[in-house]
Amino acid sequence: MEKVALVTGGDRGIGRAISLALAKKGYAVAINYRKNKDKAEETMKMIEEMGGKAMIVKFDVSKRDEVREGVKKIIDEFGRIDVLINNAGILGKNSKFEEIEDEDWDNVLNTNLKGAFIVTQEVTKYMKKGKIVNIASIAGRNGGTVGVHYAASKAGIIGLTFALASQLAPNILVNGVAPGPVDTELLSEEKKRELSKLTPLGRVARPEEIAHAVIFLLENDYVNGTIIDVNGGRYMH
Ligand code: NAD
Repeated sequence: MEKVALVTGGDRGIGRAISLALAKKGYAVAINYRKNKDKAEETMKMIEEMGGKAMIVKFDVSKRDEVREGVKKIIDEFGRIDVLINNAGILGKNSKFEEIEDEDWDNVLNTNLKGAFIVTQEVTKYMKKGKIVNIASIAGRNGGTVGVHYAASKAGIIGLTFALASQLAPNILVNGVAPGPVDTELLSEEKKRELSKLTPLGRVARPEEIAHAVIFLLENDYVNGTIIDVNGGRYMH
């Protein structure tokens, strides 16, 4: 039987590119979505047209009961989960530091960081051997140019990745990818133009270029606790 992957926020953007790349590699893909059922179905259709296997599963990553139920649905339908991609994320209101409200802080942290914690905990009840890739951000490395809540959540994802990589080894390998700006709906066109100018490669990334790094991590059996930067040279360290 083929291996099974769950991609949170797999309906669009980077999550869609990762879902398609996984399907090309022969994974059956569980595409999680929160609101965009149409987009999730579109991604599933794209996979099926390639001859692959996919299902869609609705849950909000920050809600424990929804996640538990969603993961159970995947197990019922596909029988196992071998790979988890914690990709779901939001930017928040992207406000100035002094204008960030508690509610916005909580939304960003609950989705980007607590969500990855909850989904990982629920999935690893079933995953005895496998791989996890967390989608971080350049903002977790250097603070970025968006909200401090977003940067804090992504720095948290990097810490979560390191801690899980030691605690879940040797059976589950945990790594991350930290993209610079990517051509998705997360950023406005104006922001993408501004960030392109600040990037040595002179452009933002294509979602497929992030998916490529994810696939590398899944194909390697010795890289563990590593964050791969995919940022066009915008942040070097
Ligand atoms: P996007 O807005 O196109 O996709 C985000 C996805 O997350 C969507 O599918 C959305 O439905 C899902 N999502 C949001 N909240 C959710 C929740 N509570 N439960 C379940 N799903 C939820 O943006 P994207 O650029 O594809 O972002 C994907 C990941 O990449 C995010 O974690 C983002 O922070 C990260 N990232 C993006 C960029 C960029 O420039 N686009 C850069 C660095 C990191």
